[in-house]
Amino acid sequence: MFWKRFLPVVLLGTLGVAQKAAETKPAAAATKASSSAPADTSVARPKSFDLGAMDKTVDPCEDFYQYACGNWRKNNPIPSDQARWGRFNELAEYNRQILRKILEAASANDPKRTPVVQKIGDMYQSCMDEATVNAKGAAPLKPTLDRIAAVSSKDQLIETVGALQSQGVGALFGFGAAPDLHNASTYIANVAQGGLGLPDRDYYLAQDPKSQETRQKYLEHMTNMFVLLGDSKETAAKEAQAVMAIETKLAEAAFERVKMRDPKNRDHKMKVTELATLAPNFQFARFFAARGGPAFTEVNVVPPDFFQKVNPVIESVSLDDWKTYLRWHALRGAAGQLSQPFVEESFNFQGKYLAGTKELPARWKRCVQTTDGLLGEALGQPYVNETFGADGKARMLKMVDALEAALGDDIQGLDWMTAETKKQAAGKLAAISNKIGYPDNWRDYSTVNIVRGDLLGNAQRARVFEIRRNLNRIGQPLDKKEWGMTPPTVNAYYNAAENNINFPAGILQPPFFDKNADDAVNYGGIGVVIGHELTHGFDDQGSKFAADGNLTNWWTDADRQEFEKRTTCVADEYSKFVAVEDVHLNGRLTLGENTADNGGIHIALMALRKAMAKDAQIAQVKENFTPEQRFFIGFAQVWCQNQTPESARLLAKTDPHSPGEYRVIGTVQNSSDFAKAFNCKPGQKMVSANACHVW
Ligand SMILES: [Zn+2]
Repeated sequence: MFWKRFLPVVLLGTLGVAQKAAETKPAAAATKASSSAPADTSVARPKSFDLGAMDKTVDPCEDFYQYACGNWRKNNPIPSDQARWGRFNELAEYNRQILRKILEAASANDPKRTPVVQKIGDMYQSCMDEATVNAKGAAPLKPTLDRIAAVSSKDQLIETVGALQSQGVGALFGFGAAPDLHNASTYIANVAQGGLGLPDRDYYLAQDPKSQETRQKYLEHMTNMFVLLGDSKETAAKEAQAVMAIETKLAEAAFERVKMRDPKNRDHKMKVTELATLAPNFQFARFFAARGGPAFTEVNVVPPDFFQKVNPVIESVSLDDWKTYLRWHALRGAAGQLSQPFVEESFNFQGKYLAGTKELPARWKRCVQTTDGLLGEALGQPYVNETFGADGKARMLKMVDALEAALGDDIQGLDWMTAETKKQAAGKLAAISNKIGYPDNWRDYSTVNIVRGDLLGNAQRARVFEIRRNLNRIGQPLDKKEWGMTPPTVNAYYNAAENNINFPAGILQPPFFDKNADDAVNYGGIGVVIGHELTHGFDDQGSKFAADGNLTNWWTDADRQEFEKRTTCVADEYSKFVAVEDVHLNGRLTLGENTADNGGIHIALMALRKAMAKDAQIAQVKENFTPEQRFFIGFAQVWCQNQTPESARLLAKTDPHSPGEYRVIGTVQNSSDFAKAFNCKPGQKMVSANACHVW
């Protein structure tokens, strides 16, 4: 959902997603695993602590990433249908195979199916039925396009923007419910900047040759798509120019990603009447009525600048050009559910050009992804039944307790923080709750009509349901039991408004969590993940939210200054890392994630040492590695990955996470525990002369 980008929610990592190139992964191509591997081969369950993955010819103190992951990277070239390939992706593919079996069984047209099985089965069937999808061409989109064509005034234009947004089309701006920044126990209406087709505002504004080339390719892509709809080449080219002109205006009005990290730039509550005065041409009264949902008098505007700057554009741009813009966004939003030429043209730009993926993923992979994305808490039910056991949850809860205790000890031991702020930090930590595995109450999709043979219709109805569900939250109390990720997802997150950490069932497997592995390895895997999510409560964003989820300053000025000094050290460190060619990581964009990685590894090791003191078994040397060494190797091997240079470039500009190589090198360089564990000496590459420490 569009506005979710503006929720204070932080994830563990960014995964490659078949239909969303903007979410594929990064990495510096150190090992040239050049030629890509065949796609669609079966993926075995990943192993934790894999000695065969290591390159022991390298000194761990010179390049720990190569030492821990060198052979894995050499032996695991990027499959041709992926932009990035790492341990996250291996596990996600493994999960996808399980989901495929569930969905193949569910899609049999059996009248005895349960309602949940019917929905996921017929969604998958309608997606896999390529012959029907191809025979229909663009026809399923015709009602939407007809509506846009019939618009004859700017009033109707605004109403049509509302209708499109209700179906999940990201036109012009975003609108939805989100927790009130100053009263997190309640949802408030939010309007947010948006409406772009390229992955970031900078793609429209930067003047370097690569950005100019990308804009040219985008124009060609839009032209090709309009031609597929039946427009002449000449008309299509003009239409593409019109869209580009509008989106450039939206980009000029939008704040940069780094600026949006600061909650104060997302904090502009006003009366609906004030918003109407600020940007009258948006005709918000008309728009809100068109969207439906509960009435409200206050709205958070993210940010007012955007709406103020776009306001005159609504008037100055011709109605025809606006209609072309809406037509484009309706088309690009539906392309994945239309016939093969639309799917391929879309992939050629989003997947191939922007992310460097060589080949369109197999249809079944895209259809599993679609079903998980649209009906995730229905598909999650059989997935959890098949994969998730109570024993896993119990052991996980024990580790969460251990990590929380370690962060508490860490806070008390900080030499840069006064007792006053420590008390506040400890209070916030004590208030953090957790969710593990899957929701207590599954989302009820009974009102969503899912039928065989109607892919786009199914997708639209599922999106309308989800968007309406969100909208109906305006004015309602916060629902901390809701999940922001589906159960099979290989990821985790911290939610600042809810002040909780969340771990879907999908990640509670090797290489993160292995029931059969020793604690040292599990603390390096899922232990660091837990520590990472907890630390998000205290990173550049999370530290500005209090225990109750409100945007309230709980720091003394002096302590805040010390915090800023230390996070600036982290930002400067990561800004020096090269993502690809001329592109460096953006240390400010990735600051929250890097702070969480460094804090996570520090407190996970503290927790492991406590466990070792109680259990002599853990403290033993195994396979010639001390427990500390196993911990660091287990941690690093979570991040073994290869990626295309295109995706390295894309993610350096858009992803708040650093690529795997720097998630490993950046953290161990700062860790005196690492240096001790591997007997590294000052002057070696994995020992920073200017080590950064926040938590
Ligand atoms: Zn994170």
